[in-house]
Amino acid sequence: DVTLRLKGLTKTYLKGKPGEVQVLRGVDLDLRAGEAVAMVAPSGAGKSTLLHIAGLLDMPDEGTVEIGGQNVSGEGDRTRTALRRQDVGFVYQFHHLLPEFTALENITLPQLANGVPDKAAQARALDLLDRVGVAARASHRPAALSGGEQQRVAFCRALANAPRVLLADEPTGNLDPETSDQVFDTLMKLVRDEGLSALIATHNLDLAARMDRMVRLEGGVLRPVA
Ligand code: ADP
Ligand code: ADP
Repeated sequence: DVTLRLKGLTKTYLKGKPGEVQVLRGVDLDLRAGEAVAMVAPSGAGKSTLLHIAGLLDMPDEGTVEIGGQNVSGEGDRTRTALRRQDVGFVYQFHHLLPEFTALENITLPQLANGVPDKAAQARALDLLDRVGVAARASHRPAALSGGEQQRVAFCRALANAPRVLLADEPTGNLDPETSDQVFDTLMKLVRDEGLSALIATHNLDLAARMDRMVRLEGGVLRPVA
């Protein structure tokens, strides 16, 4: 029961030009339903490239991305955008919330864009905020929230449309160690409760150890870490 399958992904930047760099050389990964996988990678190893390809933001040179058994890599831009908005949630090191909108609005907007009615979108947003302990801050703009609260809201936004796959790049990397720990626990609880398949890049081996397994991206391939 595989939610996300990456097969033979390759990617080279600046092909045939000065500075050519072969970042991915045959990346394979099966993310099973409900599984949380930690990805560790030295800086420059191609972590962002891999996450962007897995999340249908970028195209590989070769290889395929399958979500829920459907090969999505061959689809056109419009279909891939629609699939991304429905099936994939992203979390980054920095929250990237829209500064002029409230926490609640930041979580309702992606749902409205997906055709969810206003009331249902608000209910989903409030429920998510409640589950991460930030419901009391729903009407605040991001600038009025602490770093930990901002990231919690970013998690809610990523999950607003109930995606099947969560891709995260150092989701707590911008927080002090204690806050990072708590916020990470909140993220893992959401991942478990929503039954998500998650690929979470982190340098923090303590956090990585709380996931189901660990892989390392190095030399353009993914290898299991014992
Ligand atoms: P990471 O996230 O692991 O630091 P990236 O995927 O961002 O790695 O980048 C991997 C390598 O590819 C780096 O050497 C980077 O400089 C290079 N790179 C990334 N994006 C581009 C691009 N658009 N054009 C050229 N080189 C790139
Ligand atoms: P929206 O529905 O707001 O138009 P998109 O479908 O374009 O969003 O993107 C979905 C997610 O991917 C968003 O969380 C957005 O922050 C992120 N994203 C979009 N484009 C990029 C990009 N070029 N690099 C990194 N992240 C991106």
